[in-house]
Amino acid sequence: MMSLRLPSIDGLLRHPACVPLLERHGRESLLASLRWLLDELRPGVVNGHLSAIEISPEVLAGRVGERLAQQQRSNVRRVFNLTGTVLHTNLGRALLPDEAIDAVQMAARYPLNLEFDLASGKRGDRDDLIEGLIRELTGAEAVTVVNNNAAAVLLTLNSLGARKEGIISRGELIEIGGAFRIPDIMARAGVRLHEVGTTNRTHARDYEAAISPRSGLIMRVHASNYSIEGFTARVPTAELAELAHRHGLPLLEDLGSGSLLDLTRWGLPAEPTVRQALLDGADIVTFSGDKLLGGPQAGLIVGRKELIAKIKKNPLKRALRVDKLTLAALEAVLGLYRDPDRLAERLPSLRLLTRPQADIFAQALRLRPLMTELLGERWQVSAVEALGMIGSGSQPVARLPSAALCCRPQVSKRLRGRCLLNLEAALRGLPIPVLGRIDDDALWLDLRQLDDEPAWLAQLPHLQVAP
Ligand SMILES: *Cc1c(COP(=O)(O)O)cnc(C)c1O
Repeated sequence: MMSLRLPSIDGLLRHPACVPLLERHGRESLLASLRWLLDELRPGVVNGHLSAIEISPEVLAGRVGERLAQQQRSNVRRVFNLTGTVLHTNLGRALLPDEAIDAVQMAARYPLNLEFDLASGKRGDRDDLIEGLIRELTGAEAVTVVNNNAAAVLLTLNSLGARKEGIISRGELIEIGGAFRIPDIMARAGVRLHEVGTTNRTHARDYEAAISPRSGLIMRVHASNYSIEGFTARVPTAELAELAHRHGLPLLEDLGSGSLLDLTRWGLPAEPTVRQALLDGADIVTFSGDKLLGGPQAGLIVGRKELIAKIKKNPLKRALRVDKLTLAALEAVLGLYRDPDRLAERLPSLRLLTRPQADIFAQALRLRPLMTELLGERWQVSAVEALGMIGSGSQPVARLPSAALCCRPQVSKRLRGRCLLNLEAALRGLPIPVLGRIDDDALWLDLRQLDDEPAWLAQLPHLQVAP
């Protein structure tokens, strides 16, 4: 038998099938891919396992082209979030309004006055760009912004309580997804944890008894992702602030989501507002930019002027600061809060959170026949009422009345699990991956967040579910 030989690299580079690849991807990338492919094929050629066709320049060019195209595809990809959780931490939380996207574009494209005071011509402070707005919207005396709320808590604790004791209720020693645990953050911030009370009940006298010359601060944490119900007691913020101030201690309140407005005006569950926490006497309040606020990832620290000044002087501030794109987006989002009457139209997260269930249900009814046809007779697709969540630790117990396409496999119990996983994988494999949730032997696509229906419909014909 005549032995086959792989084409040479030089020959391939000049071959007409490779010329378009050379133009599109450049010589370096094409060479690297060709070398990778030839190395992979060499053993097969030596062993005589490959045919002449399999190593023809046309086939090799095709394989290299595929690999190069794959390498070019971005790892950061858009998805459809049909999980029912609106502010989904793993899916990027809040979506920005157009105003913020325009501001980010401007900040990305041109030089800007990030730390430059245009009035005086002197060096400025990046926090000044949003301080006025935040003061107006929260009633705070001063503001500083860092990378996220975890950073805000770390920086505040370290600035105000290092080498002293931080007093906190046992009911508030929480863990938030991704290894953010209050006791660990306190330790890293150099604050000695002094826990008081019990998991379900903590009284003013518990705090009082813990105060000593070693105390540095009292902390209160919003129990974001769980709720304590039944026989419970918690000292109201106003009372706790009064107690702290009587002993000359600052009260920090980590609000987590920290809404700027009372959400009940849109029929959403009540969430403590930043303004109210400050009115109640909290000296510093920390909250996220990309949770209920509806903006970019950021951590906002607001409160008393002299404490904020101390926080800003901490060298850690420099390590945790926000970039110009975030500040541009944040200013634009905050600007929308000046007109609360139109906020639900203009801020995507609030628009999605307040979408009426009847609307979502009508959409589910409309899309059901198409999905039924697409999935075939092995599946029963129904339009049903469903319960979603705000997400990101806001109101963990409250549910958002929503509607979903519920896809139930019509197969024996033994095959059901595999069937569901196959459908889930097929949806994930679409050009714009579609993410739902499996629950109660069915795959649920909560439609609250399906506002780009044309893009969703356009790609559905690509859906290929393994049997
Ligand atoms: C979400 C949350 C955090 C962490 O905020 P990130 O912006 O995700 O860093 C901290 N504390 C509370 C109470 C939270 O809910």
